Amino acid sequence: MSTTTPNVPNVSPEGPSAENDSLEDRLYTVRYDDAGESHLDVKVPGICAESCHSYDCVDVCPANVWREGEDGVPHIAYENCLECGSCRWACPQGNVEWTYPTRGAGVTYKNG
Ligand code: SF4
Ligand code: SF4
Repeated sequence: MSTTTPNVPNVSPEGPSAENDSLEDRLYTVRYDDAGESHLDVKVPGICAESCHSYDCVDVCPANVWREGEDGVPHIAYENCLECGSCRWACPQGNVEWTYPTRGAGVTYKNG
């Protein structure tokens, strides 16, 4: 039986294990440098609010960056973005504005 401290990710000193560690544990090892401005946006907010019922951007994001907003337009916590690009391709309306963060900011992975 393993012992863990509540709210402290269970990551070994060698880093996360692809087989055993949770997504939250693995995300804990990622470092983010905030560019101070979002590199993600929706092109036309009205498309989200009036004609989107799937919210694929929310469903596909592994880092919980996209969240459904009360007005129908998603909120975007860009600071946690892993730059995987999935939201850009998942939106059925092509309504995601996607660039890399400015001035070299963004995500840094421990192993590359
Ligand atoms: S999937 Fe596209 S259209 Fe729907 S809420 Fe997300 S960005 Fe907007
Ligand atoms: S690029 Fe990946 S991690 Fe970043 S917001 Fe889109 S789906 Fe989420």
